[in-house]
Amino acid sequence: MILKYIVDIHTHTVSSGHAYSTLDENARYAKSIGMELIAMTDHAPSMLGAPQKFHFNNLKILPKKLHDVEILKGAELNIIDYDGNIDLEEYSLKKLDIAIASLHIPCIKPGNMEENTNAYIKACENKYIDILGHPGDPRYPFCVKDVVDACERTGTLIEINNASLRPDGSRKGSDIIMKEIALMCKKKSMPIVMGTDSHFYLEIGDFSLCEKFLNEIDFPEELILNTSVEKFKNSFRKLK
Ligand SMILES: [Zn+2]
Ligand SMILES: [Zn+2]
Repeated sequence: MILKYIVDIHTHTVSSGHAYSTLDENARYAKSIGMELIAMTDHAPSMLGAPQKFHFNNLKILPKKLHDVEILKGAELNIIDYDGNIDLEEYSLKKLDIAIASLHIPCIKPGNMEENTNAYIKACENKYIDILGHPGDPRYPFCVKDVVDACERTGTLIEINNASLRPDGSRKGSDIIMKEIALMCKKKSMPIVMGTDSHFYLEIGDFSLCEKFLNEIDFPEELILNTSVEKFKNSFRKLK
């Protein structure tokens, strides 16, 4: 079988505190199923049990390729207020290959529509943030049009997150807002990127829920960036 999606932009390791595989295990498994690139995006410091800034400052010691899989060394940042501030300083941000920014219950209490929208727009305007992580959590409603417009304007990618679609997941009910987002991207011909948000190695590369979700709305295959390392790399960084 030839794997269709060979890039996974959202994976966690034991460093996150509530994930259970090492980078070595993640890379080995990714290779075994035919993946070509994974991003290691451990939770940033304000998540309970997450590593502190020294973890992110020291990422340079890791190889760029492990078990023949390219590794992007990054972070899943926490948006910590409605002005879109995040929990790593510029010194650390500069060292990352990739940065996802997400809203998480332990790190920011849900605001109203206007506050959540502003948090996302301000995050998009941060040059160090490449991807908005798992938007669609029903606990954080936002104006989809305004945020997708901000992503388009700033070159920020939107993640379609496999874990958000799990019926037993912590963000269940995300599919409603995610559908609105994906349809708007389709209308604008804007690319999206899928992430598994794996917290154990066996989840890496499993985009089955995303695939089903995107098929249901006839989302164009060419707008999904996970099919090619080159296609993904050409789209994801603001700082080049
Ligand atoms: Zn997590
Ligand atoms: Zn997250």
